[in-house]
Amino acid sequence: MAEKHFKYVILGGGVSAGYAAREFVKQGVKPGELAIISKEAVAPYERPALSKAYLFPEAPARLPGFHVCVGSGGERLLPEWYSEKGIELILNTEIVQADLASNTLTSAARTTFKFDSLIVATGSTVIKLTDFKVQGAGSQNIFYLREIDDADELIEAIKAKKDGKAVIVGGGYIGLELAAVMKINNYSVTMVYPEPWCMPRLFTPEIAAFYEGYYANKGINIIKGTVAAGFESNENGEVKAVNLKDGRVLDADIVVVGVGARPLTTLLKGQVEEDKGGIKTDAFFKSSVSNVYAVGDVATFPMKMYNEMRRVEHVDHARKSAEQAVKAIKASEEGKTIDQYDYLPFFYSRSFDLSWQFYGDNVGEAVLFGDNSPTSSKPKFGSYWIKDGKVVGAFLESGTPEENKAIAKVAKVQPSVASADQLTKEGLTFACKI
Ligand code: FAD
Repeated sequence: MAEKHFKYVILGGGVSAGYAAREFVKQGVKPGELAIISKEAVAPYERPALSKAYLFPEAPARLPGFHVCVGSGGERLLPEWYSEKGIELILNTEIVQADLASNTLTSAARTTFKFDSLIVATGSTVIKLTDFKVQGAGSQNIFYLREIDDADELIEAIKAKKDGKAVIVGGGYIGLELAAVMKINNYSVTMVYPEPWCMPRLFTPEIAAFYEGYYANKGINIIKGTVAAGFESNENGEVKAVNLKDGRVLDADIVVVGVGARPLTTLLKGQVEEDKGGIKTDAFFKSSVSNVYAVGDVATFPMKMYNEMRRVEHVDHARKSAEQAVKAIKASEEGKTIDQYDYLPFFYSRSFDLSWQFYGDNVGEAVLFGDNSPTSSKPKFGSYWIKDGKVVGAFLESGTPEENKAIAKVAKVQPSVASADQLTKEGLTFACKI
């Protein structure tokens, strides 16, 4: 059985891994000290591109165009960058066993990797309808989207079923982005979700009404309050219809499912403390095992601003947590300390000509401002959330970079506000003067 040893191993080769590698280089890493082990076949890339420009029919985004760290305005880390820096990029390699007591990872091909310090960056896996034994959910042309291979398979089907019918199961941001991109690919699109409005974990009914109206104007059919209860397939095993729980039947050539994700923590089960479904860490992303760190989607960490343990499944946190963990590892080697992670939640999505950003916490009373008419030629609107007389969260559709910075500042500063009316009246002006 082959064995390799590295001072630092990053388990997983996604967003966090790429940003961690860049931080290691900034902090100083010697050739041969660092390895990234990934089951994907490509170097770390900006995952959000997969549900957006990667699926465009015209001028789609393709690697190497969106390798990290372009998503945050940094320099692209091409595969050559890793070899130039002496970082071993071990691709197409799935780790199937982790033994923290002996600092050992074992791959499916039975190679063992020894580490001094480990950063777990395994991200999430999609929740599948087959997990719930939905009848016919194993039919062909039912897609999920997590990795670039999933996106490539979807693209093949989009070509094969040209101008066909797509059903999108799920009303979260993946569902909304996928519905838009299938429409842009000239598919006839229906979205199905059980909730009374889309993105219910973040959107208020007023925010959702805008997106639902906008999508309807684009010709997307939205069916709410029911779920996909089964699928019918043709003689080739390809999906041909979706049976809804309320009895309706939708013709479908392609189904894309976006019903959520689960953090990939199974390898470490029983070996580290867990919290809220993730690996519990301190403010430096160190787990309960002192040489093991967890970053990105898998980490449940102290959110300083809200004095609460939280897990965050967004790309901005994946980048920043990775950098924090590497800084902490390097500092501890030199007997130094660094500041605690002080994260301001940030999340965004883009579809059609729309683009929104959200900062902070969506708790308390929500106050809408601006023009949220879906038929407006230039819609621009947002929402603030007020808790205990303070603005704690802010959402903005179609903001300029300066306006987005302003709402981020509001969510960070948490200014007091006299009344909800003041926010409705002042709208963005309130944020811009903070
Ligand atoms: P990932 O980037 O998922 O990387 C995990 C890596 O670990 C993968 O390469 C995986 O193959 C590898 N891995 C897992 N298990 C093993 C194993 N056992 N052995 C070897 N390798 C393993 N967030 C936003 O804020 N805005 C967006 O618009 C947005 N869009 C998104 C669109 C899509 C389609 C998806 C899937 C996610 C999107 N996200 C978005 C979320 C964001 O991409 C994730 O939060 C982020 O990628 C998490 O980074 P990570 O490094 O923790 O995990």
